[in-house]
Formats: sequence, C-alpha cells, structure tokens
Amino acid sequence: MSAIELIQSDITQLEVDVIVNAANSTLRGGGGVDGAIHRAAGPRLLAECIKLNGCPTGEAKITDGFNLKARFVIHTVGPIWYGGDSHESDQLASCYRKSLSLAVENNCTSIAFPNISTGVYDFPKELAANIAIREVQTFLVTNKSISKVLFCCFDSENYFIYQRLLDKL
Ligand code: ADP
Repeated sequence: MSAIELIQSDITQLEVDVIVNAANSTLRGGGGVDGAIHRAAGPRLLAECIKLNGCPTGEAKITDGFNLKARFVIHTVGPIWYGGDSHESDQLASCYRKSLSLAVENNCTSIAFPNISTGVYDFPKELAANIAIREVQTFLVTNKSISKVLFCCFDSENYFIYQRLLDKL
C-alpha cells in the first residue's frame, strides 16, 4: 500500500504533520522515545502536557510540536506487556486507531509512529508490528485524508520485522 512507508530513524527529526509519542499515563515525560521527543520539542511541550491531566492506556491526546519539525505531537499510552491476557493487544490497537483519528480531526495528512510499547513496556515486537500494520491498513481503507503513514523504527530488530511484514502486503 503506497501510503505506508518504513524508515529507520530518530522520530524527532521527521518532517511530517504529526509524530506520535509512546508516552506514559502521566504525560510528564519519560525515557526512550518520550524523552527524545521532549528534549527535541523543548520545555514548552512539558508545560502543555501537564495541563492535559494524564491519559489512560489506549487513549491519545494532542499537543503542539513546538521546536519539532512536526506541527503536532500525539501522545498515546501503550499497554505494559503482562503476558497477553490483560487486553494488551486491544489496547495497543486502540493507540493506533485513536492516534489516526486525532490526526484526521486536526487536518494532518502525514503521520509517523514509533513502535509503541516495544521498549520498556516489553510488548513482543512481532505481535506489536502485526497489530500496528493491521490497524493502519484498516484505517486507510475508510479514511482518505491521510496520504502518508510512516512507521519509524529506531532499533534494527523492529526495522527488519516491519520490512518483512510490509513486503508481504
Ligand atoms: P514504551 O514504554 O512504549 O515501550 P519506549 O520509548 O521504551 O516506549 O520504546 C518504544 C520504541 O521507541 C522502542 O522500539 C524504541 O526502540 C523506540 N525509540 C526510542 N527512541 C526513539 C527515537 N528517538 N525515535 C524513534 N523511536 C525511538
């Protein structure tokens, strides 16, 4: 599918309308991609995030992108992996759906996703990639306003998983 692209990169450097942050439920910053986004966006991002009063798992909230090239940041809270019997897959799918809907509501046509939950939250990478690709593909069938969805992998393991799965489409 032409709208879906794969890149191995630091997501903070991408020139898209919106980048997605794999945040934690406090929305007060953290490690991994969250920390990188806050460092690159500057301190005004944390100030705006604090006003949002957190975000439940599987939901998403939007802020300005401040010093980033992206106009907006969508903060979504992925599930912590507890073994798979705690609705982790549904929650991860919801992160992708809610983020895409928020992007459309804010007139974004290009969006970049990190590999939500596959860092410290320990979600199995292959399963997470399958869910991410499925949700994006399904969304794009009925939502024509998004012209580009970038899967932005940081680590090579995720990059090769996505490459293999996307090649099969
Ligand atoms: P989570 O708590 O959702 O697991 P992490 O930030 O620990 O969030 O990891 C999510 C994914 O983000 C991991 O695959 C990690 O390799 C990736 N990541 C870390 N830093 C960056 C970055 N600067 N740009 C894009 N992806 C990143």
